[in-house]
Parts: sequence; structure tokens; C-alpha cells
Amino acid sequence: MMEITKTIKCKLIGLTKRKLELLNREYNNFQHYLKTGEDRGVYSATKQQGKRTYRKIKPDKEYPLVIRKDLMDIRKTDNKLAKYWARIPNCGVRGGIKAALAHQPFNFEEWEICGSKLVRTKDGEFYLHVTVKKDIELRKEYSSIIAIDLGAKWVGVSVALHRNKPKFYGKRIREVRGKYFWLRRKLGKEKKLKAIKKIGNKEKRIVNDKLHKIAKDIVDEAEKHNAMIAIGNLSGVRKNNKGRKVNRKINSMPFYRLKEYIKYKALERGIAVIEVPEHYTSKQCSRCGSMNTKRPSQGLFICLDCEYQINADVNGAKNILKRAVGYMLTAGVVVTQPEGGSRFVLHTPQPPPNGFRWKPLAIARGGGHREVKFLL
Ligand SMILES: [Zn+2]
Repeated sequence: MMEITKTIKCKLIGLTKRKLELLNREYNNFQHYLKTGEDRGVYSATKQQGKRTYRKIKPDKEYPLVIRKDLMDIRKTDNKLAKYWARIPNCGVRGGIKAALAHQPFNFEEWEICGSKLVRTKDGEFYLHVTVKKDIELRKEYSSIIAIDLGAKWVGVSVALHRNKPKFYGKRIREVRGKYFWLRRKLGKEKKLKAIKKIGNKEKRIVNDKLHKIAKDIVDEAEKHNAMIAIGNLSGVRKNNKGRKVNRKINSMPFYRLKEYIKYKALERGIAVIEVPEHYTSKQCSRCGSMNTKRPSQGLFICLDCEYQINADVNGAKNILKRAVGYMLTAGVVVTQPEGGSRFVLHTPQPPPNGFRWKPLAIARGGGHREVKFLL
């Protein structure tokens, strides 16, 4: 059993003029209170929470209102404007201000609501950042494994025990990043720094949306096939020197974030994510295991021993799958079922052979690239 927390950002919508005025007044008074200690009217619990949360106050910074856990009230309604409404404490209104939260797919009922922050943006809009938590039980039995290689050409490539065809992710991201790279460069020559920053933010938003979608697809598939997820350890990736153009692509590829998203979304549904050593996954033949191989181009992999020709990223993913299966054979147990299928059962992990080192689940954080480990 483990606890996960996350923060949901909800825009407040449909605020009347009066509500907006009250929120702004409280917000301004809170800033004034933090900076001077003088109280011009701030809800008392918010005042206390503010003092506790913000130790050092900078004169030119705005600080979100801190709403105490027990005062945060979010309710589901039948209201047409929004599914969820929040009650925000305010010293001007007894019982607080009722505000609609912009549409969002998140189910607050399934989570315990912790503290929240009310944030005012530069455009004068209000957002509620709600922290929620939940206890998760990790599954112990799996029927399959999905292995993902986070590569240079594609953001990710996956292979799985339950299907023959590899899946490629992130074509669109490549296009987006390519387009913005050239745009930035052009603007850079013209020294339009403001415009560069603006398109940078837009690019980041688009790419992030895509990454979330990819992570969701992978975790949906894992759930559907009761698969655990194996990802290659990336610690060595950036050190390769394959020329400036390739390096630029590798360095700017958002696969680090993708890995985080996959990890988080999987965990939320109780699906284990293991990290396997990635050394030689791009050099070794996934069919015969030979190291006598070559990559005539970034995308193509050829084995000189068994003459296997395959997409280089798919070869990497296959190696990760092999290592994950190998690991499961030693750390867990494979139970063959009457129908002929097999099932992996996670047991108390044993140190696997073949140079793998194993760290127990609870302390497997960070660390070297030679371990198979659970990403928690
Ligand atoms: Zn081979």
C-alpha cells in the first residue's frame, strides 16, 4: 500500500462581479498582511496558514492564498455551468464564496482532498490548486509486459508480450518540435526575444498535451492486458556523441517527462513500472544476442551474425522486453495457466543473476544504471 498525491488545477468560472471583487480584495489584503503584518481583512485561518507556509516574503512577489484542508469544500452538483463547485473561505462572506470549477474529468469523490491554494494569474483570473491523495495497492500478478524504448528518432517505441506489432509514439511531437526549432532560430537571428519566449511556451503546452496522451495510451493498454511496464534506464543516453544534429534531437526530446507521466499514471492504477538497464540495448541484436551489429543509419539496425534487419528503436524495445522477462523469471514466478498462457507473479524479489543487481522495492530510488528497479 502506498500513498500518492497530486495537484489538480481548476479555473474558477462564471464569477459574478461581486464575487470577483471579494476574491480580489481578500487576495490583495493577504499580500498586504504578509508584507506588513497589518490585517485589512483576511479570513483568519488563511492568515495563519499563510504565515506557516511562507517563511520568507519577497516584496515584489504575489503569494497564493492558502486554504486549510478542513475548510476546503468541493461538491459535485447538477448545475449546468460546472460539475464541481468549491466553497472558498472569505472574510467578507459567511460560509465563503461559492465558485464553479471549469470542466474537468477528474473525479474528486475518489480522492481525499487536502489543502488548496487560490492563485491569481497575471491576467486577473483565479485558479484553485487542489491537492488530493489516495492509497494505492500495487498489483502482484501480471499477464503480460509492455516494454518501452525511449529513443531519439521517436519519443517512444513499445513492444509487448501480448502483441506482435511494435507501436510508435510521438510523430506529431517531432513535427511540432522541428517546426518550433526553426522558428526560434529564425526569430533568434532577428533578435525577437519576446516572440521566442511566447512560442516556447506554446510549444511546451502542445508537447506536454501529447506526452500526457501517449502516457495514457500506454497505461490504458497495460490495464487492458494486465501488463506491467518496463522502461529502459536513460542515464547513459545523453552521453552518446552522434553528431550535432542527432544530439540536439536527443537532448531536446521530452522523453524524461514522458517517463514521469507513465510512471505516475501507472501507479495511480496500481500497475508496476520497472526500469531495466539500458546498456547495449541499442547495440545488441534482440534476436540472437550478438554484439556484432551495425547501424548504417540512425533508424536501421543490422545484425552481422544472424542477418536480422530491424528498426533500431524496435530492437531497443525488444531488448528491454527480453531483460524484463528475464528479470521476472528470477525475481518473480511465471505460472503457466491451463489455457497455455502464462502469468507473472511478483514475489519477494530475489537478486537476479547475469550481472543484474536488485534493490528491494521500498528503497529503489535513483541510483546507478545497472539495476532493475521498481519506479515508485
Ligand atoms: Zn542477431
